[in-house]
Amino acid sequence: MTRVVYVGGRYVAYAQAGVHVEDRGFQFADAVYEVIEVRDRLLIDGTRHLARLWRSLDALEIMPPMGERALRLVIAQIIRRNRVDNGIVYLQVTRGAAPRDFAFPPADTPATLVCLARRTDRARIDANARSGIAVITVPDNRWERCDIKTTMLLPGSLAKMAAARQGGKEAWLVDRQGFVTEGASSTAWIVDASGRLVTRALGSDILPGITRRTLLDVIAAERLEVIEAAFTPADAVAAAEAFYTSASSTVMPVVRIDGHIIGDGHPGQITRRLRARFHQLAEAAPPLGPCRRPTGA
Ligand code: PMP
Repeated sequence: MTRVVYVGGRYVAYAQAGVHVEDRGFQFADAVYEVIEVRDRLLIDGTRHLARLWRSLDALEIMPPMGERALRLVIAQIIRRNRVDNGIVYLQVTRGAAPRDFAFPPADTPATLVCLARRTDRARIDANARSGIAVITVPDNRWERCDIKTTMLLPGSLAKMAAARQGGKEAWLVDRQGFVTEGASSTAWIVDASGRLVTRALGSDILPGITRRTLLDVIAAERLEVIEAAFTPADAVAAAEAFYTSASSTVMPVVRIDGHIIGDGHPGQITRRLRARFHQLAEAAPPLGPCRRPTGA
């Protein structure tokens, strides 16, 4: 349960937390966000998540609402005030509130920062990881700058609903050429018959996942081979193993795609190894932790 939210420069009770009706996040999805895992009160990969937040702000020319040090203080407060030992921190920055106009408001319009934290049910996530989950594939009908982490999430929301209605937990999005781009809210991976990891190369068609980035470190440490190339749903169905990655679920085994069983129908050995190793290599630091200077405007 979230008790306290940071919004509009104040810590506000959850029931009273709100933004203006003309906030550009509300009217235009003119906003970027981050989700960061909290584990034993430590931020997982906080440095990389905050660096990506600054990159997203920079890409949309949104002025950061505060420096990284101040933002880390807000995150620390929100984790403490909501007594979150294990869960997630959600950060959102919008271009602020201004009379509705497609053109950007004056540059001195203050950005809106929202920060909240909530516990997650780690036992439930671990149970899903033990059994593995089902995904469906749907056409990727998002825009051409999916590398920016904007709140323009309606296509992903619709894709997830379609998955849920078919008993799946995630939807893998397929581009016009028939290749999987990524999950609605995760990075897609397969393990081929030779034990090589395959995930799409970075580009404007996918989000540069932070969990993906750190998993590449884990893969290197495990001396496994990785190919950054696109694969099709048919490749995934024929793969030895499949999984997806995201900050909220780390490495999640996939055992069914569009009703087809992957491998022997159980989470694969390499997938399980990577999941077990992930938190040994990921940065786990106090919210005020290793501080980097903000980059970008
Ligand atoms: N792709 C998309 C579209 C996402 O929404 C997410 C999660 N926000 C990811 C990939 C995974 O990114 P990360 O590992 O940084 O959580």
